[in-house]
Amino acid sequence: MSEETTVMIGLEIHASLNTKSKLFCSCPTSAVGRAWVKEYLEKKGVKFEFVEHDAVTRPIDSAKARGVSVGQIAKALVYVADSKPILFILSGDRKLDEQKALDVLNASEIKMASKEEVKEFTGCVVGLVPPVIDGIKKIIDEKLLSNQILSFNAGIATAGIKIQKDVLIKVLDNCQIADVASEELIEEKAGEKRVVHSIEAEPNTLCCPVCLGHPGSKPVLNEKAVEFATKIGLALNCKINEDFFFSRKTYFYPDMSLNYQITQYEIPVAENGFVFLNNGKRIGIKRAHVEWDPAALIHPSGMGKSSYVLIDYNRSGMPLIEIVTQPDLTSPAEAREFMNLLENVLGYLQVLKPDTTLKVDCNISINGGERTEIKNVSGFAAVEKALTFELARQKQEVKRGNKIEQHTRAFNAETGITVELRKKETEADYGYIFDPDLVKVTLSKEFLAKTKAELPELPEQKAKRLQEQYKLSEYDARVLCSDLALGKLFDSIVAKGGDAVTAARLLTREVLAVLNHDSLSLADVGVKAEDLLELVQLLASGKVSDKNAKQSVINYISGEKSSPKSFLEKNDLLISASVDLDLIVTKVINANRKAVVDYAGGNEKSLNFLAGLVMREAKGTVSPQKVLEELKKLFGK
Ligand SMILES: [Zn+2]
Repeated sequence: MSEETTVMIGLEIHASLNTKSKLFCSCPTSAVGRAWVKEYLEKKGVKFEFVEHDAVTRPIDSAKARGVSVGQIAKALVYVADSKPILFILSGDRKLDEQKALDVLNASEIKMASKEEVKEFTGCVVGLVPPVIDGIKKIIDEKLLSNQILSFNAGIATAGIKIQKDVLIKVLDNCQIADVASEELIEEKAGEKRVVHSIEAEPNTLCCPVCLGHPGSKPVLNEKAVEFATKIGLALNCKINEDFFFSRKTYFYPDMSLNYQITQYEIPVAENGFVFLNNGKRIGIKRAHVEWDPAALIHPSGMGKSSYVLIDYNRSGMPLIEIVTQPDLTSPAEAREFMNLLENVLGYLQVLKPDTTLKVDCNISINGGERTEIKNVSGFAAVEKALTFELARQKQEVKRGNKIEQHTRAFNAETGITVELRKKETEADYGYIFDPDLVKVTLSKEFLAKTKAELPELPEQKAKRLQEQYKLSEYDARVLCSDLALGKLFDSIVAKGGDAVTAARLLTREVLAVLNHDSLSLADVGVKAEDLLELVQLLASGKVSDKNAKQSVINYISGEKSSPKSFLEKNDLLISASVDLDLIVTKVINANRKAVVDYAGGNEKSLNFLAGLVMREAKGTVSPQKVLEELKKLFGK
């Protein structure tokens, strides 16, 4: 009898779609504060412009979104001076000079307000405090007032106010003009535009009769959620169903006001797709459908420790995508590889809510037996770990002569073990029925054509293109495309004239090595394409050794962060014509007569030994080829 175990793993992945409203109502899917400033200014009867845009909180992003300079952004910072709250209004590119502030206020102590204090004093979330807060002392910095037009947020992350400075000053009660900002400008960290999506909202403030399931409420499907699901289906090579509908999955749980979840059962948006793992293995995608997220249950003293549970319906009705694979994965490591691949594809599509975690239900069976389902695992390492544990557990059960019965298990990330939750309900238990409140959906030919046309270049296509266009190795191309930000960095270095092969080598080896070593991501370190371009040019023209280039990257990412070129210049590590190679060679030869004799006697290794010494003496500022050439010339070879 064979000891071989056949393992079948299927995954069900859930993630939140990045739409502005919920699946069936126009309630916002992210808390963005309250848009009360507009109303406030209208009441005052003053002139201003209201600009709506994507969610932002950084001054640099606000400025971009509203078409003004960072200097024109009026940011309001909440401080506490001698235990009294105070609002400083500064331009977006300056810091508060605390010494100046102390002098102006004639105070002895000043500190930035805590998150809780900001809330208490202004009613606003940190980062979204507008200057127009009544009943609090304000100091507006005079440098800000060199601008005629000022802009500040409207108490929400998705809109701003543009207003004449004189009008603003007139509106502000209890306000003083003074010199309190730093002289020097704040340097904005480079990197991707940061969009804010998870500003806390008061519980139960982002809901309406539809997402609370009130009788008589009229759900209307959010087209954007369908568009995103369609894009995901297309990217996973699925068949898109042009006609589909929504069903009710009936069960009771306190996080569901409807007593059923609106989901898709009979006909999903997309089905029968596939992706290929790096080794070429095909993994089937059974289906991808949209459904709505239940509310959040809050256990005030922690799960199982609270004497009561609170419910926050802000999340109720958020659009989710559920992607179900075929049981084609045959090991926990493969499941992890698949998750990485899927996450990358979803990242390229830009359809998921930023900061969303992919939640995974893992199904596993061995030797064709019944499967167990491990619910709600988040994190790819956790998926691999949970499956590894469960695989070993099932093997042992079988060895003991026990039968595996179909059931649901929970994974404890701390202990790394899975425990039985409940006997698995069958699909029939949920009593799926067609939802009569919702109309059948038919995707138009135009919608499908447009959605298809809008699909971005996906990782696999991009990797192929990079190989053809720039003659990159398959490995380099694949690594570059395995991370959206890394691929973009490569694109922009090359677009600025950097040599593609050199750039690819630099990014996939040196840059990734430093990032991985320090567990950093590109977004964390604010790497600039311009800085790496300089290094690529130095490398391509043979002006820096690989070793010194590596050193400059380490310094750039996790050292003192000066640009690679300036680091190399400062430390005299560039290969330059001014190095007196003859002198160094002579010195090395004189000190190593034995090696010279050995080389003359036919020992090739001695030449490399001498070359190494010359390189070391020259601190890597000459190329190894040049040194070898020079030595050979000298020895007449
Ligand atoms: Zn709603």
